[in-house]
Amino acid sequence: MTGGPGTVTPEDRAAVSASVARALEGDLPEEDDRFRAGGDDDGRFVRAMASEAAAHLEGKPAERIVAWAAGIVPRFAVTSSFGAESAVLLHMVSRVAPQVPVIFLDTDFHFSETIDYRRRLARELGVTVLDVRPALSPAQQAARLGDRLFDRDPDTCCALRKTEPLRRALTNYDGWATGVRRVQTPERAATPVVEARRHDDRWLVKVAPLAGWTDDDVVGYQRRFELPVHPLVRLGYRSIGCRPCTTPVSGAEDARAGRWVAFGKTECGLHLPGDEEVDRLTTTPG
Ligand code: SF4
Repeated sequence: MTGGPGTVTPEDRAAVSASVARALEGDLPEEDDRFRAGGDDDGRFVRAMASEAAAHLEGKPAERIVAWAAGIVPRFAVTSSFGAESAVLLHMVSRVAPQVPVIFLDTDFHFSETIDYRRRLARELGVTVLDVRPALSPAQQAARLGDRLFDRDPDTCCALRKTEPLRRALTNYDGWATGVRRVQTPERAATPVVEARRHDDRWLVKVAPLAGWTDDDVVGYQRRFELPVHPLVRLGYRSIGCRPCTTPVSGAEDARAGRWVAFGKTECGLHLPGDEEVDRLTTTPG
């Protein structure tokens, strides 16, 4: 690509168009090292390129969005909760870019069925799964903040057991993909297929290849490729997170209605304490 650090030239934009065209033809575009820096120009390059790519990739097949990102972003990963829909994106990645690692946030509070499912999918799809754990064990967290924090302050619990571990894991990457879809919650309704997200002092590329997918799209893909189903789905769990914060839902309810039911909370990242607060909670002795 052309253009020096911190500059975004018309040639750069044309090169992004070319990289998207290549992905749409079924190839992986060449890696661009400027995505690796991620912050030497306050993310100007990454932000501009993500915006450009989003415009080109909106409405395009999810496999091609994965291919574009896995090709052009030097260190790329996919995050997965190994929940009810996770097999779709993981299967897609295993077909298009099998070298891409999968980050699994093991909160220590998952259902045993989720851990079994994580092992099964890793084995059957042949993907490499990196288990990322919180800084505090459940016992350390209970000693520091009291027992059953999830029953009293789920935002802080999620910050300690999900947000901070993800932030730590992403220091090794320049971009990542998630299975977020727009129809899942009002907060996700405007999810772009490609965006730039700030993590600490770096700007990373975040990709949501399934952003525009409907529930039927997901079911159709699962059936087409006969993907293994999370065992709890048969018991009415349609969105699966940590055991203490997840309940089954009826067929008429929203899939995420069974998450944090006592709190009106729908996202792990809502109303979180800032990073400094997370650092204090995980590093202060006692
Ligand atoms: S989902 Fe519940 S148990 Fe899991 S990290 Fe969040 S509050 Fe804690």
